[in-house]
Amino acid sequence: MTSVLKCIHCGREYPINAVMYTCADCGGLLDVRHDLDALRGRVSRALFDERLGTLEAPFNSGVWRYKELIYPDVNAAQIVTRGEGNTNLYPVPKLAKWAGVGTLYLKHEGENPTGSFKDRGMTSGVTQARALGMTRVACASTGNTSASMAAYASMAEMEGIVFFQNKQIALGKLSQAIAYGATCVQINADFDRNMELVRQVAERLGVYVLNSVNPFRLEGQKAIIFETLQQLRWRVPDWIVCPGGNLGNSSAFGKALHELHALGLIERIPRVAIVQAEGANPLYRAYQNGFARFERVKAQTVATAIKIGNPVNYAKAVRTLEWTNGVVEQVSDQEIMDAKALIDAQGIGCEPASACSLAGTRKLVARGVIQPDETVVGILTGHLLKDPDATISYHSGTLEHIRARYPNRLHQAEPNLDEIVGILTAAERT
Ligand SMILES: *Cc1c(COP(=O)(O)O)cnc(C)c1O
Ligand SMILES: [Zn+2]
Repeated sequence: MTSVLKCIHCGREYPINAVMYTCADCGGLLDVRHDLDALRGRVSRALFDERLGTLEAPFNSGVWRYKELIYPDVNAAQIVTRGEGNTNLYPVPKLAKWAGVGTLYLKHEGENPTGSFKDRGMTSGVTQARALGMTRVACASTGNTSASMAAYASMAEMEGIVFFQNKQIALGKLSQAIAYGATCVQINADFDRNMELVRQVAERLGVYVLNSVNPFRLEGQKAIIFETLQQLRWRVPDWIVCPGGNLGNSSAFGKALHELHALGLIERIPRVAIVQAEGANPLYRAYQNGFARFERVKAQTVATAIKIGNPVNYAKAVRTLEWTNGVVEQVSDQEIMDAKALIDAQGIGCEPASACSLAGTRKLVARGVIQPDETVVGILTGHLLKDPDATISYHSGTLEHIRARYPNRLHQAEPNLDEIVGILTAAERT
């Protein structure tokens, strides 16, 4: 039983150990394709449930628990893992009410080892880098990919090389990449240009690219769906709602659901809603014209993790929408930051891009796309601490063009009992 790389456009197949990201014939994106017929007898809900209590790597990982569906033939000794995944699925009745939906869960991928879902893709991507004998790995990054790659590269004793854009790198993410020891280059260009550059430099220097154009990344990210369904005791929700930037995650979700259904592990496929920021909405625009044409945009949004105007996984995201009868929505920065404030105030918290899931759910309910009695799982992609600037600016009212609807202001006081009591008494009244 062997897996292959397969072009999603023309169908040409390549050996699983080929170092390539797009089809040599037509330039199409590649899938890692497993032999589902051979897997059918080997995987079951019971198998994945049995592994839940284990303390041993790799099955203690929320990715490798599903090894047969991620990378069946890889030697367990090659796996580079930090026990990623195993993130909480929070029922949030108050937020469900705010969004206007019967049942809402938030799957918090910010609880991964480096604070974003990127760890799920990095454990599989860096494992493949090791299997290929790579010594250097690289990515262009809005931040979280670099933080994650830097950590996993260090663990695997490889050099990590990061291309940062010129503006708006969230401080938490930049500090991680530097701390974990990656070679960090800040380039005077935006993410989309850096994405082109990293592929050219990698080709020249023989470095392995770990952006989500790498199909092994997406294999690991499928586990977000596997784990969510296992946590729901395999009861399929009506909707899965996630933010869309480079569209790797939404692409992985479609593939995961398609495979689970083909293997008989779920009876029906939930609908996927991809939510983009208004200022970085090329998928939304293409969706509006029935995918007749795709045009890149110059991206601008407070949600830096999805500030991407030319998503590499566009074709795979369109496939997800076809496979899942999915929809695309857009939300403003104002809606993103207000939704984030509400998620934060639940004691859960997330970074701005993640709040697209809640803001988008509310909008889709208002538009009558999501029905009030339906069950929704929203994906929180990154941790609150990734972007402290955005949080503080929102609550102190200094975020440009945004008026905080749910502010929590920082009070200032002299070390004076009456003054402090005065503040707390006033706070009590409001
Ligand atoms: C990477 C990232 C996204 C975007 O995911 P894509 O797979 O690029 O669409 C959203 N939120 C956060 C926090 C991220 O790190
Ligand atoms: Zn092809």
